[in-house]
Amino acid sequence: MVPKNPRSPSSGAMNGSCCKLEDGFPALQLFGQGVSYTYDDVILLPGYIDFPADAVDLSTRLSRRRPLAIPCVASPMDTVSEAAMSVAMAALGGAAIVHCNNAPDSQAAIVRAAKARRIPFATDPVFLSPSDSVSDFGPAAYAIVTESGTSKSRVVGVVAKSDWEGLANRNTLVSEYMRHAPVSAPASYDFEKVASFLAGGGLEYAPLVAEDGEVVDLVTKEDVERIKGFPRLGVPSLGADGRFVVGAAIGTRETDKERLEHLVKAGTNVVVVDSSQGNSIYQIEMIKYAKSMYPELDVIGGNVVTVAQAQNLIKVGADGLRVGMGSGSICTTQEVCAVGRGQATAVYKVASFAKEHDVPVIADGGISNSGHIVKALTLGASTVMMGSFLAGSSEAPGVYEYL
Ligand code: NAD
Repeated sequence: MVPKNPRSPSSGAMNGSCCKLEDGFPALQLFGQGVSYTYDDVILLPGYIDFPADAVDLSTRLSRRRPLAIPCVASPMDTVSEAAMSVAMAALGGAAIVHCNNAPDSQAAIVRAAKARRIPFATDPVFLSPSDSVSDFGPAAYAIVTESGTSKSRVVGVVAKSDWEGLANRNTLVSEYMRHAPVSAPASYDFEKVASFLAGGGLEYAPLVAEDGEVVDLVTKEDVERIKGFPRLGVPSLGADGRFVVGAAIGTRETDKERLEHLVKAGTNVVVVDSSQGNSIYQIEMIKYAKSMYPELDVIGGNVVTVAQAQNLIKVGADGLRVGMGSGSICTTQEVCAVGRGQATAVYKVASFAKEHDVPVIADGGISNSGHIVKALTLGASTVMMGSFLAGSSEAPGVYEYL
């Protein structure tokens, strides 16, 4: 490993002035000089390859007891992680952490919706009742019409955006223009079964209905074609319940204890205590509370960038650590609060310490190209957490507006 900045105090060794190392630096030496490096300040020296790319095993852990097939995690941001992102990430062997910028029951509903799915469809289903009007439709391509307008009642029809777009009277009732109830498929079907169900029946779409009658999704021919184009990566992240692994964020306020209860009841597999400065009495108390109330739940603490911060959270039982302060694309902590650390140094220092305690580290933020992922993992992170890298994808919340 070598620093990219030729004026770095360590560059003398690269010129041969150090007798022992004629070719680059081991990380221990590079990061032991008191210089704070970002990902772009360092570059890895290439080694020797005697294996094909598909022989590389990327399997890792998100937290002490949560294995993943790929080291990628979607950030708890309201522009990134809701149900569709959670399903897509888990289907590929990673995970998403559902954000907490919402009411506890809304966040729990997102977790429940994600865990009810088995296939990574990009859109969250929209429900209407027959007595709703066009103006209630929103921007989705299709809406499922059920007797009560919720997922928990019988499907009576479907409306497509194309059916109502040309309507002059936006107060027209859904019941007047909805299409007849389509044939439903069981929600337990996997992707291959859903694909052949649609193809066999010559169907454009079909609702997926769970055994208890809850409508889980509306799958379309376009979804099937899109998913066929996905790369086949790893194995899906599944919990002990056989459902997708879904993580969720909580804060450190007293009210977050109630949020935590909602999330645990919804089946959340791991929680992340979400704070820019994790080494606080508030976070320490929250981790202690979560671990005592739900000992089976893995609790990830953070954010931290120093060994001292990490030590405090590990001491109270954190099952994972999120590393990064001011490294995210929208983060202003280093400018506003004058605290933080170059992300390469932060990851290396915290991961080296956490490894001694068998605590996996998430390198959070600052991932703007795939090389940054490689650097984070090489420096000791078990996973990388991405925000802007995933925002704007079909799986992120929100819809495209074409003006
Ligand atoms: P936070 O809730 O941890 O802290 C906000 C303030 O509330 C702090 O001053 C804290 O001391 C105080 N506080 C927290 N719990 C308290 C309690 N129980 N009683 C009294 N005071 C309490 O939130 P934050 O640090 O502002 O972070 C908000 C979000 O922004 C998170 O999603 C975080 O990840 C993100 N963020 C990240 C970074 C980064 O560098 N990684 C930087 C800024 C923000």
